[in-house]
Amino acid sequence: MKSYRKELWFQLSTRRGLINITPQVEEAVRASGIAEGMVLVNAMHITASVFINDDESGLHHDFEAWLERLAPEKPYSQYRHNGAEDNADAHLKRTIMGREVVVAITGGRLDLGPWEQIFYGEFDGKRRKRVLIKVIGE
Ligand code: ZN
Repeated sequence: MKSYRKELWFQLSTRRGLINITPQVEEAVRASGIAEGMVLVNAMHITASVFINDDESGLHHDFEAWLERLAPEKPYSQYRHNGAEDNADAHLKRTIMGREVVVAITGGRLDLGPWEQIFYGEFDGKRRKRVLIKVIGE
């Protein structure tokens, strides 16, 4: 069995944002030389997510509005975690949106459904953060 590891780095200028990272994951799979296997893609931070959904701007707005209803950023004082930090909402949003995805690799390509795209979800940006890609197979 072969394996391949790569980190992607992000620094958003905003507190929250979504980035379609499907091309970078495809490139990692290509670089791995693995034709049949699996790729794990996970956020390495507890205030960011990796998830799969549609690359459609209306839906991205809906995610933002929905997450803000579930775990509003402000007032910061509503959360026990805040004090030295102000990112309690980001921890909660990350938990809802998930830590990682696993995608099958078939014939050297990501075996995604027709509208599936892989996203990095940032909920406490303005600093450098990482995503891990681990490809295994043969
Ligand atoms: Zn925190």
